[in-house]
Amino acid sequence: SLEGKTAVITGSTSGIGLGIAHELARAGADIVVNSFSDTEDDHAIAESIAKEHGVKARYIQADMSKAEDCRALIEKAGACDILVNNAGIQHVAPIPDFPIDKWNAIIAINLSSAFHTTAAALPVMRKAGWGRVINIASAHGLRASPFKVAYVAAKHGVVGMTKVTALETAKDKITCNAICPGYVKTPLVEAQIPDTAKEYDMTEAEVIEKVILAKQPSKEFATVEEIGGITAFLCSAAADQITGTTISVDGGWTAQ
Ligand code: NAD
Repeated sequence: SLEGKTAVITGSTSGIGLGIAHELARAGADIVVNSFSDTEDDHAIAESIAKEHGVKARYIQADMSKAEDCRALIEKAGACDILVNNAGIQHVAPIPDFPIDKWNAIIAINLSSAFHTTAAALPVMRKAGWGRVINIASAHGLRASPFKVAYVAAKHGVVGMTKVTALETAKDKITCNAICPGYVKTPLVEAQIPDTAKEYDMTEAEVIEKVILAKQPSKEFATVEEIGGITAFLCSAAADQITGTTISVDGGWTAQ
């Protein structure tokens, strides 16, 4: 059980982050929910996690594109036994047309934020004598696709940072691993399906099979509950000696 542990999950008001928040709460951890906004709905998400799982849960606003916000998130959390670096965005364009502001935002949110939160969290974990850093990378941390230069660069960077973090914490009862999902059906991915169907003149089922899941041999999405369950496993005693590695959850994508 993760009772008495506090988990900070960046970008956890939606999709994979929210799924991880629920699964870690189910395992007994207290939860810090985070995003860049500060709405009633954001705080209500934390309240409903607390109610559903009987743990403490709080919402803390922090913009993961800003170094000082990333470090302040860990400070405001007060405790951080489990850090899940999950916040991430995407933009798709060929390299010569790739907007500079999108490049900067993706590198900041998908890569640099994990450096800043990890830098702030490791001293806290060392003091507690135990810790888990779990980076949500991607199949794109191990493989490339055209038109996703910033995302692929950031996610490869996350995989590299995961290895360095593991080596620097190897004797501290702290582990650091990356989860590499293929396609997961989150609100973000689902929202693209109707538009893509129009563009390609396909049915939504054809879009899922021929466009989205073309790389995923299982032809099935992973679920946020599965990613949450793997995160909880990495926090368990069974995973004490798993560090500096990647766990692919991609229906066979990177076996190819
Ligand atoms: P999502 O859009 O559903 O959720 C992203 C979350 O990050 C939201 O809560 C959003 O509010 C938050 N966020 C965005 N910008 C932020 C910022 N500046 N500061 C703080 N929070 C911010 O997306 P998702 O599909 O759940 O993706 C979560 C992570 O999983 C990302 O790192 C993504 O790259 C990775 N991933 C997703 C898939 C997939 O198929 N969905 C596959 C592989 C990896």
